[in-house]
Amino acid sequence: MTFDEAINGTEKDIEIRRPEICAVCHGTGAKRGTKPIRCSVCDGAGEVRRIHNSAIGSFSNLITCENCEGTGEFIPEKCLECNGEKRIFQRKTLRVKIPAGVDNDVQIRLSGEGAPGLNGNQNGNLYVVLSVQEHQFLVREEKNLFYELPVIPEQAKNGGKIEIPTAYGWGTLRIPPNTKHGDKIKLKGMGVKDVRNPNENPGDQIVQIIVTDPDALPEKSKYLFNMTNKSFRRSNR
Ligand SMILES: [Zn+2]
Ligand SMILES: [Zn+2]
Repeated sequence: MTFDEAINGTEKDIEIRRPEICAVCHGTGAKRGTKPIRCSVCDGAGEVRRIHNSAIGSFSNLITCENCEGTGEFIPEKCLECNGEKRIFQRKTLRVKIPAGVDNDVQIRLSGEGAPGLNGNQNGNLYVVLSVQEHQFLVREEKNLFYELPVIPEQAKNGGKIEIPTAYGWGTLRIPPNTKHGDKIKLKGMGVKDVRNPNENPGDQIVQIIVTDPDALPEKSKYLFNMTNKSFRRSNR
């Protein structure tokens, strides 16, 4: 998902492959018109008692029945659709609601959307792990966003307005006169929402002023200015 989607929240359709209860045998695994029967080896228990004789006496323990693999039933005639497996893998499209403020590796649990339970067991859950693209200019740390803004010495000395990227589009930043290299300007509430506490105040965007040589800014257009900013930030890490 994109950075914007993570910041603002979104809904996404995902396609998964998961086993579904076979529609032909309705999960019995038996051919149409037939039924599974009780396993004759374990008498339906799924386990058999094995007795070991030794010099000091005999011991017994329960082991899984090999004939029915612990299910307690035997399918004399298998369903032709699922071959007695009871489930069939199918493609399925699910809509996932993603709240605002999620980050990389956050897991979203979809209750009951995992593999279907067999023999009356509950369905499993599906866990969706998010992968969020980086922003072109902003660096995220938890709820805060960081941006290094290169300005030329005159801009730092005289102050002025400059266009900067924010998580919510381009905005105008007012630089006060006599700003120094390394000064930080906090844009309150321009960070990211807390995904677990959406009613709490969001984080901030922190703009750090980098006073740089005019030659480092070959073009003064907004776009190139900020591209310079990005490469500048990269080269300083
Ligand atoms: Zn079937
Ligand atoms: Zn058995």
